[in-house]
Amino acid sequence: MSHPRIRPAAAIGFGLVHVAALGILVLDFTWWGVALCVASYYLRMFAITAGFHRYFSHRTYQLGRVSQFLMAFLGQTAAQKGVLWWAAHHRHHHRYSDMPEDIHSPKQRGFWWSHMGWILAEDYEKADYARIPDFAKYPELRWLDSNQFLATMVYALFMFFAFGWTGLFYGYFLATVLLWHGTFTINSVMHVFGRRVYATKDDSRNSMIFALVTMGEGWHNNHHHYPGSAAQGFHWWQIDPSYYLLWIGEKVGLVKGLRRVPEKIKVAGLRAFDEAIDAASKNVHDRLDQLTARWEELRANARASAHHAIEDLEAKRVRASERLEALQADYAAAYAAAKSRAGAAADEKVAKLRKDIEEARAQLAELLARLIEAAEAALSVPSGLPA
Ligand SMILES: [Zn+2]
Ligand SMILES: [Zn+2]
Repeated sequence: MSHPRIRPAAAIGFGLVHVAALGILVLDFTWWGVALCVASYYLRMFAITAGFHRYFSHRTYQLGRVSQFLMAFLGQTAAQKGVLWWAAHHRHHHRYSDMPEDIHSPKQRGFWWSHMGWILAEDYEKADYARIPDFAKYPELRWLDSNQFLATMVYALFMFFAFGWTGLFYGYFLATVLLWHGTFTINSVMHVFGRRVYATKDDSRNSMIFALVTMGEGWHNNHHHYPGSAAQGFHWWQIDPSYYLLWIGEKVGLVKGLRRVPEKIKVAGLRAFDEAIDAASKNVHDRLDQLTARWEELRANARASAHHAIEDLEAKRVRASERLEALQADYAAAYAAAKSRAGAAADEKVAKLRKDIEEARAQLAELLARLIEAAEAALSVPSGLPA
């Protein structure tokens, strides 16, 4: 698919900030600078994930009008355009994720386009307020949104006056570039790399590594499965720092109505995933049924022919069929365990067994096909093998 045109001014500005980040090479290396960079990164990552994403795009909790404005202001210090622009485009992504209309799908327009090309595109420069009437109705948010560089410039000046050149280059330029790419991985990497647990209509995935980079957004498959939850980690071991901070915010009364994922959604997802796997392997399934039926027809006569190859294959078939039954019994047990105390180990065991079962089925089908072929040759009957 062809790409929309990139705005030269946007691309130059984007490139220049990357060059400015190299300014740290001119300064003396300091651990203080590194600490400042990390703090500046995570402070603003919180405003992006908890603010722009979980609040303005998905309304998974409520804020007062002042704290809502402060969250939007802090988010805009990340230089990811205006708050309404960001949230309106993100709502569009959920509506069409990985379909041709999706403006940042690696599946539709390639990895780099989904990572950073789309942000620089002329076509997507404007925010469609019709997608976000619930927040566009606040004049102070519209004002902030249309002055998209204001907050980030105030932040850069603050960094310079408070911490000097180290503040400007480590705390602002380097941290901002890292924050860009950290955020963008959710649109690019998290639709390509990682584990799929839920059969969402898109290619979204889960990854612990990217959950750490993005304060919890790495559980992106969970999020596409149930975007209405403020928590994107659905299990205790799925680290989600943005959610922990929101939880504290709720305790101290700043955050209200924090929405969580219902228990039945977690389990329903696992079942939906099974159905998708089964649909994909339905052909193998059907072929196995047909082969088994054909072998049933031939078996009595074929074995009476005392054909050595047939005896040998039949013994193998019995063993393969027993193994498949054992795997299916293990699978049922592991599946029940994964449902009751969902954890990484239980989920992984289920996933591994699914794979083993697919292999065992394919192996059994192969043995049956050879058996039928040998029996038909021995009995001189026309082929009744399903294609
Ligand atoms: Zn997505
Ligand atoms: Zn989202």
